[in-house]
Amino acid sequence: MKIHRAKAGNVCISADDPIVIQTMCNTHTSDIEASVEQCKRVHEAGAQLIRLTVPSVAQVESLAEIRRRLREDGIDTPLVADVHFSSEIAIAAASVVEKVRINPGNFHKDHEKACEQFARLVDVCKEHGTAVRIGLNHGSLGERITTLYGNTPLAMKEAAWEWLQMCIDNDFYNIVLSLKASNTVVMVEAYRLLYRQMEDGGHIFPIPVGVTEAGNGDAGRIKSIVGISTLLAEGIGNTIRVSLTEAPENELPVAAYLADRYDHKLHSSLTGITLEGRKATATYYAPSKERLMFDFACDFGKRLLDRQIDELELKGIYIDADGNEISIDGTGYAAYLVDEVMQAARRRFYRPEYIACPGCGRTMYNLQDTFEDVKRRTAHLKGMVIAVMGCIVNGPGEMADADWGYVGEGNGKVSIDKGKEPVMRHVPESEAIDLLLEFIEKEKAE
Ligand code: SF4
Repeated sequence: MKIHRAKAGNVCISADDPIVIQTMCNTHTSDIEASVEQCKRVHEAGAQLIRLTVPSVAQVESLAEIRRRLREDGIDTPLVADVHFSSEIAIAAASVVEKVRINPGNFHKDHEKACEQFARLVDVCKEHGTAVRIGLNHGSLGERITTLYGNTPLAMKEAAWEWLQMCIDNDFYNIVLSLKASNTVVMVEAYRLLYRQMEDGGHIFPIPVGVTEAGNGDAGRIKSIVGISTLLAEGIGNTIRVSLTEAPENELPVAAYLADRYDHKLHSSLTGITLEGRKATATYYAPSKERLMFDFACDFGKRLLDRQIDELELKGIYIDADGNEISIDGTGYAAYLVDEVMQAARRRFYRPEYIACPGCGRTMYNLQDTFEDVKRRTAHLKGMVIAVMGCIVNGPGEMADADWGYVGEGNGKVSIDKGKEPVMRHVPESEAIDLLLEFIEKEKAE
């Protein structure tokens, strides 16, 4: 079995290296000051790779200036250009930063042209030592692939495999392959299919793992941990991003926990499990409330996703911020964590399911506050899938299996979408949540 290693600047990514943690700026890349400051904050928080969106060729210059200033200040964290809808931007960025992320679903509309442009990109990457992430997303697979395989984990794997072959045909191996989705079941299945195919072929390429549009708060953390830990536990995943609709520095402690746990630097605080039929009762002695949440999501996410158990109960003790031992007994906080882990593994829905992008340089409005408002106003819609997306360019494509979407258009306007289709465009932000609720109520009444 050949283990391939990707190298982005001073960072190595492979099955033989420690897990690399990364995040993405949510500043506008053209705002050089704000981007440099945010890069510094996430660097201090532990980011080993920092991604920035590059929505235009003009912003490649901004990216170069951000990199120059960081290097001047002694920060050598590799930068990753996140590129959608333009192979020319990817080619331009490849000579500026250490890694370029492309999305095969929108690299180029025409497949033959995509192959030609990819060969050009590879030439620039070889010349500059730049790595490439072939970054597929469940919601934005190309039309050619979805026509052949549907919008499925198999389609994601087939698309990744096709692009991997293009890399091999171009004798280019400085690559990583990701297959992200917001739905943990889809994401885990897609990665497993790809990994098995790589094993069968005798070549293991590095894999970035993440749950896209996971949301925020406990729910976003638990959903990310359930999806990511399931794969890391199987040896799948060499770099991770915990994608939250929050300040990007908040993602890094969660990612660091996962990296440490699956690099065997820390152990679960689980002290015992009893099984009664298909119900597991878990007992913990956790050093903090947060560790209880993280450990519990890691320990039982995979068991639930793989349907090894159907029910859960949580008991034990955690230490609070003042050093007191707090008992938990299956109710209150313990029951809440069980509900969240069950929902993250898609075994039982006790509230609406939210898909919310983390925001990036394309974000068109105050995403974090709006997401909180949408959650507050839609909390009664148990089981409904509601997406809150930062931009009209990628948002509708990325929200995959959402029932309803709130998508920022820019200039204070919002598109309200049902599935991937807009039902009303150019809605003023101040009216958008009311209208979203009206559409949902009307549909329920029909
Ligand atoms: Fe950025 Fe969100 Fe748009 Fe994705 S959907 S490109 S994260 S603003």
